[in-house]
Amino acid sequence: AAKHQGRNAYRIYEVSPEYAREHGMALRSRLRHALGNGELRLVYQPQVDTGSEDIVGMEALLRWEHPDLGPISPAVFVPLAEETGLIVPIGEWVLRTACRQAQEWEQRYGLRLRLGVNLSALQLMEPKLPATVFRALQETGLDPALLELEVTESISIKAAPNLVENLQALHRMGCGIAIDDFGTGAASLDYLRKLPADRIKVDQSFVRNIGVDPDDEAIVRATIEMAHRLKRTVVAEGVETEAHLAFLREQACDELQGYLFCRPLPVVSFERLLAERQQLMGLPTAVPA
Ligand code: C2E
Ligand code: MG
Ligand code: MG
Ligand code: MG
Repeated sequence: AAKHQGRNAYRIYEVSPEYAREHGMALRSRLRHALGNGELRLVYQPQVDTGSEDIVGMEALLRWEHPDLGPISPAVFVPLAEETGLIVPIGEWVLRTACRQAQEWEQRYGLRLRLGVNLSALQLMEPKLPATVFRALQETGLDPALLELEVTESISIKAAPNLVENLQALHRMGCGIAIDDFGTGAASLDYLRKLPADRIKVDQSFVRNIGVDPDDEAIVRATIEMAHRLKRTVVAEGVETEAHLAFLREQACDELQGYLFCRPLPVVSFERLLAERQQLMGLPTAVPA
């Protein structure tokens, strides 16, 4: 099958982590107005089924277009938003915006794509998180079964009160739970035992070394096997090369996400992709919104 190439999605971040450390104060205060000023937006990266290479889901990823500095990486500004507590209102906006988008695409293209949304530590500790998610689902009409909340393994279960309870409540609501960046934290196995997770996302630092480092290959292989024995599905992140693809296919990794298939796409580009796919499948063409 053809690889889905992202167009116009490649952006170089101008702000380095060093710059961010030095200008943290200025960035933090600017971030306070980013949401209200419309400087935040979401891009969506497809996730494909390993066998068919068909799009089965997408991950919503946050972008900040700073008026003077240009695009700033979430790896830089999400930590700042956590320090200031801003991640809570920003996270609510992400949830509502992404759920609304997924619901709109389901209606318009007739595709039931799963939507992955990242949650930060601060959001996960909020006792009102389940209510916030419930409201986002109600307001947008998205089926809870299509929403998958991604929890990064770098959050310590012990240091995060309410985390387990919140995830259990979300799971009961019918949402999926994915463990993000699997293998990078200190407590991967603890996470698997204590959280109601349906899926594991193998971190890209391991995937990158497929074909390079036999130890990392062994970790990927073992992670997939363990996940399957525990009846969890596995997504590999950061799939960039045909060699990665061949290895992950051989190991029966369920789904793949990475530049080999598609970069994170702005809304219009994602819609073009969905329209192409719809035509390919011989479905009636959607009426433009
Ligand atoms: P993540 O959740 O692990 O997201 C995957 C990251 O890998 C994304 O980076 C994505 O653009 C990147 N990626 C995807 N495919 C490839 C590939 O083939 N090669 C390489 N090198 N990278 C690839 P991004 O968008 O810069 O996001 C970085 C992190 O920021 C995310 O990691 C997540 O932890 C956080 N983040 C992003 N959006 C949100 C959000 O809405 N809320 C919260 N709390 N965190 C977010
Ligand atoms: Mg993620
Ligand atoms: Mg990840
Ligand atoms: Mg990551």
